[in-house]
Amino acid sequence: MVSYKLPELFAPAELQLFSPAEKMPATGLSVYSYIRRRDGKPSSFTFNNSCSEEPLTGFHEPLDRVWIRAIGYLMDNADKDDRKVLENGHAMEYIHEQNFNGKDYKFLISKFPFQAEGAAYIFSTCRDVTYYLDCVDEIGSRKVLYSLVAENMTDVFCVAGLDGRLAFMSASIKNLTGYSVEEIAGLTLDKLLVPDSLLRLNEVWGRLVEHNTKSVKELFELEFLHSDNTRHWAEITAATFSDPDGINMGVHALIRDITDRKERQAQLQSSLEREIELSNVKSKYISTISHEFRTPLSIIYSNLQLLENHRFELDAETINDAFELSRMAVKSLLRVLDKVTVIDAVNKGKLGFRPAYTDLRKLCANLVKDLNEMELVPDRIDLSIGQIPDELWIDESLFNHIFTNLLLNALKFSDKKSRVKFTVYMVSPSLAGFTVADSGIGIPEDEKTYIFEPFYRASNSMHARGSGLGLAVVRDCLKLHKGEISFESGTGEGSVFKVVLPVTE
Ligand code: ADP
Repeated sequence: MVSYKLPELFAPAELQLFSPAEKMPATGLSVYSYIRRRDGKPSSFTFNNSCSEEPLTGFHEPLDRVWIRAIGYLMDNADKDDRKVLENGHAMEYIHEQNFNGKDYKFLISKFPFQAEGAAYIFSTCRDVTYYLDCVDEIGSRKVLYSLVAENMTDVFCVAGLDGRLAFMSASIKNLTGYSVEEIAGLTLDKLLVPDSLLRLNEVWGRLVEHNTKSVKELFELEFLHSDNTRHWAEITAATFSDPDGINMGVHALIRDITDRKERQAQLQSSLEREIELSNVKSKYISTISHEFRTPLSIIYSNLQLLENHRFELDAETINDAFELSRMAVKSLLRVLDKVTVIDAVNKGKLGFRPAYTDLRKLCANLVKDLNEMELVPDRIDLSIGQIPDELWIDESLFNHIFTNLLLNALKFSDKKSRVKFTVYMVSPSLAGFTVADSGIGIPEDEKTYIFEPFYRASNSMHARGSGLGLAVVRDCLKLHKGEISFESGTGEGSVFKVVLPVTE
């Protein structure tokens, strides 16, 4: 025999009573009742006195007093309540609260009429719902919880049959995709997923529904189109679920927006790539610069040795040559350093545009004079200046960087006996034009697009020393001066570099 106490079993048990309509309990007549457990096993009992404070008998265990009170209340009000139910012809339900030993109890009393063999009956139940009502107060109610979940969650829960038909999708899909559940149901997947993700979903779905009984779980990412046409990423955890016999019935999935995470990953990846590129550039810098330094340094070193060891045997001309060679080597070192410093300053934003009214004739003449003196075979540059205003709005330092590099290249990549033409003219009142023309080795057609990249040296120029930084400096300085450059060149045909600079305030 099972032995239990009702209050402890409020969840699985409830008190159920039924009474014939014409024998109201208020008359003191018997009420036939029984306790039915949720597991379906009924335990019949009978009691006679609805107002009894004594433990009820006929039941396996005496009932707790709180239940006796509840039943007492039920019986006391039975006449009134039952009549109302019979008159209205439909069910009534209300909560009866009662205090017992300092604790508030809540009983849900439900009554409904029914007919059996031509007679009217009232069926009543009394359920202790104290715990339920205390727990599920207003903010925890299903309705509130559901709307919180549906409206505020970004995660989406959905269920689909094995045929791929959507059986359920939480309303939070609106937060994820901008589409409501109804709108999603009307969309084809190719409108929602980018092509790669559509293929991916097909693959994963194939694995999920491949077996009848095996439970399968998949974690994957899809890129989809939000209703506002932006691309988003979702992470999906999908798993099969089965009936009690273990036969797969469908797939449930949790979908989460991971766009932010993806963006952070991409940023991290690109900053990693930038770091790698930077470190490659750095090592290229170091190897180019050290290579560029080696020749002039060894020229200086060997001339110093010559002067030190043979200073008394050498004639004046040889000593002069040794000094001249060393001086040129130092200048060449300074030129490389100059390029590196300019590129570094541009990268750090430290090299600005500082124009002033400048005498362009004087500026060009000084530059050509310096360069002509600098080269082993001097005076190779022919300067020709057309009609230009006395003063133009020019940044002298940027100007010198641009044309030193262009003119040195023209000298370097052409025969020592050939001449380089430097022409200055006005394109319009606000634009000055410059050409630097040589008759040297020229630039191979397929390499023309690369020559302004740092470190790039065309395949036909390896005989001449260089760092591949000169034209990068030209490009950066022209950008600061808002100028433009173009060139015409052919292998063995010489090159003409054309620069246009704005020269008014
Ligand atoms: P560098 O002169 O130190 O090699 P630059 O950046 O000044 O580096 O030039 C890059 C490359 O462009 C050179 O190595 C060369 O191949 C090509 N180039 C530039 N100017 C000329 C020119 N006037 N004639 C032929 N090739 C040139």
